[in-house]
Amino acid sequence: MNMAREGTAQIMDEHKRIALVAHDNRKEALVEWCDENKHTLKRHFLLGTGTTAKLIAEATGLPVKGFKSGPLGGDQQIGARIAQGEIDMLIFFWDPLEAQPHDPDVKALLRIAVVYDIPVANNRATADFLISSQYMNNEYEHEVLDYNKVLEDRIKDFSK
Ligand code: PGA
Repeated sequence: MNMAREGTAQIMDEHKRIALVAHDNRKEALVEWCDENKHTLKRHFLLGTGTTAKLIAEATGLPVKGFKSGPLGGDQQIGARIAQGEIDMLIFFWDPLEAQPHDPDVKALLRIAVVYDIPVANNRATADFLISSQYMNNEYEHEVLDYNKVLEDRIKDFSK
């Protein structure tokens, strides 16, 4: 599809809205990572898929807003919020060694995070790099595709 790729500058607040998701075999690793980093994470707003959110909240004592469980639509709920500009970062420990029933949702979530240029960590090393970034506790300006402009151009193309 031929889409204009013009972006508009958007500012991420110093308090990030961080989505946390882990497949079953990776939940322990994500819970452990959150617990180790809870002093940094407490300055931000946490949310996640149902089971992951609950486990992290219990282990760290931090508030984590829970959506539906991933296989029941939680990944899609989070993807929709990314598209609405309501999530700044995704920490998603997906399982590289086991097929998931909701694989299309997983792919969709990863794709939409790229579309909206939010930082994504799929493993511990990347999560460590992200959390130690200078941008974590500061504002960050990035270019996000201007979908109103894209829409206008597409409508023009079809009305020719
Ligand atoms: P869960 O969902 O946190 O409810 O287990 C995660 C997922 O499998 O996408």
